[in-house]
Amino acid sequence: MEKNIKNQERPYYKVPELCVPAGNLRTLKYAAAYGADAVYVGGGQYNLRSFGNNFTVPELKEAVNYAHSKKIKVYLALNAIIGESELNGAREYVESIRETDFDAIIISDPGMFGIVKKMMPGMRLHISTQASISNSMAVNLWSGLGASRVNVARELAYGELCLLKKNSKTEIEVFVHGALCISYSGRCMLSKYLSGRDANKGQCSHTCRWKYYLMEEKRPNMFLPADMDKRGTYIYNSRDLCLLEKLDLIADIGVDAVKIEGRMKTENYVAQVTWVYRKALDCIKKGGFSDYNKKFLMAELDKTTHRSFTEGFMFLNDRQAPELTDNDNVGYTRKYRFAGSVNSLSSKYNKTVITARNQVKVGDMLDVLQPGKENLEFRVLKITRADTGENITVANTNELIIINGLENIDEFALLRKKE
Ligand code: SF4
Repeated sequence: MEKNIKNQERPYYKVPELCVPAGNLRTLKYAAAYGADAVYVGGGQYNLRSFGNNFTVPELKEAVNYAHSKKIKVYLALNAIIGESELNGAREYVESIRETDFDAIIISDPGMFGIVKKMMPGMRLHISTQASISNSMAVNLWSGLGASRVNVARELAYGELCLLKKNSKTEIEVFVHGALCISYSGRCMLSKYLSGRDANKGQCSHTCRWKYYLMEEKRPNMFLPADMDKRGTYIYNSRDLCLLEKLDLIADIGVDAVKIEGRMKTENYVAQVTWVYRKALDCIKKGGFSDYNKKFLMAELDKTTHRSFTEGFMFLNDRQAPELTDNDNVGYTRKYRFAGSVNSLSSKYNKTVITARNQVKVGDMLDVLQPGKENLEFRVLKITRADTGENITVANTNELIIINGLENIDEFALLRKKE
């Protein structure tokens, strides 16, 4: 796909680090295989995904060992806002992870910053987007306190980001892809107010995605639909951020890291998005991020399950941001289904055993994604049950199968099928 490559490595800076979410060890392994430079993970406590697949303390150690063996970095998110009564618990939790060799800890609460700085001297500290940092004075204040990197607020315009980067004395990280909050960089009380679950403690119930009605105050049980589309009105529901086509502009100003949102996402989603952004950064490094490549990679992103995309606040002409919620489609778009992944029993059978992740039939056309390779289109002609050797025409979800012609694919290969 890499047309129009000028074969000219950028002499003046390296491309940003690609920082990818990993909700569990399996996803972390796929992120590593598909080109992440760093992953960010959550432990059991004090991160903003307390209902996600968080890692236990032993799992964190295993994750760090694995990632380092693949030469990628691991950042632990401890970015919840903590109350006075939680300080001792926070100290105990930091004590339990202080021997783990993380490459950085991500923090938003100054109290947690103080605890980690004292208990883990020398540890790199990254400031979370939750801290809503939107100017270089704030960046430099955190830098003076010992922060190594600041993930800036997602509400910045591109011009502001350029100035902020120029005037900042520490590394700058920018979210480029994934779900957005309708509130200011996640500082939101909507979830707590309507469901009792505090988004600032990692318990968001995604209240902004709920369906809302109009009600006149004297008619409390009469709910009037306000139809945005045939499913109703989702007035707070933001589109998903996608800055892929502007990645070269972001790299141009020397941003140190770009980040993808989604610690609740599957390995399939994380692998696909990582693959796309890795390709884009590699093109930028070679001076060849042409319109053709942008179009090709946007088409690949469109194969993931996502809401309508927006470039967020960064490239809007005004700050009203009507585009963020003015959606034709506020639900998820899914054009492809996750069809299968390689099962670890493959070594026992001495050929690739696939776990069907949805129904797979003889005659299906599949996309085969493999790390470091171009995607392959493949027609299924023969399916065999891995345990009995029986030929079948339909494999259902979770069946272990061998697909003729795919007996030797990569252990991190993923199969997807058009809807
Ligand atoms: S309810 Fe919506 S806006 Fe509020 S924190 Fe959760 S995702 Fe963000």
